[in-house]
Amino acid sequence: MKVIIIGCTHAGTSAAQQILKAHPKTDVTIYERNDNISFLSCGISLYLGGTVKSLDDMIYATPQDLEQLGAVVRTRHDVYHVDVQQKQILVEDLVTGRKFADQYDKLVLAMGSVPVVPPLQGVSLPNVLICKDYADATKIAATAKVKQHIAIIGGGYIGVELAESYSNTDHQVTLINGLHPLLSHYVDTDFSEKVGAELVAHGVDLRLNEVALKFDSDAQHVYIQTDQAEHQADLAVVCVGFRAQTDLVVGQVDLNADGSIHVDQYMRTSDHDVFAAGDAVAVHYNPTQADAYAPLATNAVRQGLLVGMNIFRLTLADIGTQATSALHLYNKTLASTGLTLARAEKNGFDAAVASLTDNYRPEFMPSTTPIDMRLVYDRQTHKILGGQLYSEYDVAQSANLLSVCIQNENTIEQLAFVDMLFSPHYDRPLNYLNQLGLVAMDQETRLKP
Ligand SMILES: Cc1cc2nc3c(=O)[nH]c(=O)nc-3n(C[C@H](O)[C@H](O)[C@H](O)COP(=O)(O)OP(=O)(O)OC[C@H]3O[C@@H](n4cnc5c(N)ncnc54)[C@H](O)[C@@H]3O)c2cc1C
Repeated sequence: MKVIIIGCTHAGTSAAQQILKAHPKTDVTIYERNDNISFLSCGISLYLGGTVKSLDDMIYATPQDLEQLGAVVRTRHDVYHVDVQQKQILVEDLVTGRKFADQYDKLVLAMGSVPVVPPLQGVSLPNVLICKDYADATKIAATAKVKQHIAIIGGGYIGVELAESYSNTDHQVTLINGLHPLLSHYVDTDFSEKVGAELVAHGVDLRLNEVALKFDSDAQHVYIQTDQAEHQADLAVVCVGFRAQTDLVVGQVDLNADGSIHVDQYMRTSDHDVFAAGDAVAVHYNPTQADAYAPLATNAVRQGLLVGMNIFRLTLADIGTQATSALHLYNKTLASTGLTLARAEKNGFDAAVASLTDNYRPEFMPSTTPIDMRLVYDRQTHKILGGQLYSEYDVAQSANLLSVCIQNENTIEQLAFVDMLFSPHYDRPLNYLNQLGLVAMDQETRLKP
């Protein structure tokens, strides 16, 4: 059996490892455009902020590692055509320029995503960067040493993480965010405002509701014209989102309206010899029970594993995702899972939110810390749809617990009464998430006609 994998960051790497673990004799050939594989993009802000010392530490598998498992790894090779009828791909060696065809029995599409680059004048200027892969990381790292004033366009989690790292390293930062609140995919407006206040407290010049229209530059500066002002900076970084990189397979496999590949629960595309995983693919999003675009390394690694498990025999079905994520912002953790209230309402739920701020453990302990919490739930079924937590206390694993609740279709009552440990070191007799469930229950009792 010959398997070809296109793209080798997280989805491609995990698919290759799993295929070769389960079926070591498989003939696996990997084509990757870049000269490295498996780069963790989250390392960009960690490196900028000085938490990790080398960008290379963010690479967890090398071509040699996969070759030792039995794969043929062709980096600096671009796949420029796919023909699923003929089971053939066309490849260009980007070093020599040689073009050739290759045949497969099974194909894995792991081409991932590309940053959305708005078609604005000047967006390709040398001092306007994007933030995605190792090459972008290298440019961002090099320019950080010589550029002082950085303008970031886009207030999603990448823009916010970059703003934090630059502001922590004595850069002057302007963060320009368009019409949506900061981090609007992950949190509702009140949490978004808290994040904004934190950025401002650390010196970030926060420009909300401002839309970038064009970029100009001279030898020293970049000028960002928005619908409200002109900003001068030394460098601009555009991070306004990602889109699935699927141009290669248009007309070959079924795509969603947003360009992401539709897969079934075994990661098969509409052509059952073609599997797909990662940012190129839509996830099955449990809160809405529908396809959604949620480009995260977590989803990519799990989907890659599932490809490996299902490619020769349908073995394990995908259980979907809540797109759980967390952000470390200065000394706080912001963690979220599932739907925000705004997105729940947009998806037609009769949704409500329960809010609670409480110390995570009793006040008689030497120290304690407040946690801001929000629980989004369906008023008709009482099922939990989403959760958001923000605190100096490490609340990341609590978002994971809420993720399991959504996965298992638990209700606010079940969250209130699920068994959780008590020790004054860690929490109260009723854990703070139990209490959040109780707040939701009380609210529903009060609101009952
Ligand atoms: C700055 C930043 C921080 C992030 N932080 C987090 C985080 O903390 N947690 C989290 O869960 N996620 C995070 N993510 C998201 C995560 O990086 C992506 O979800 C993940 O990289 C997706 O992996 P992938 O393998 O599907 O695709 P990609 O990483 O997009 O990789 C696809 C690969 O395919 C190759 N390729 C594409 N087309 C071809 C072709 N035609 N021929 C040959 N090769 C091709 C590309 O060169 C690329 O290497 C972050 C992303 C960024 C940019």
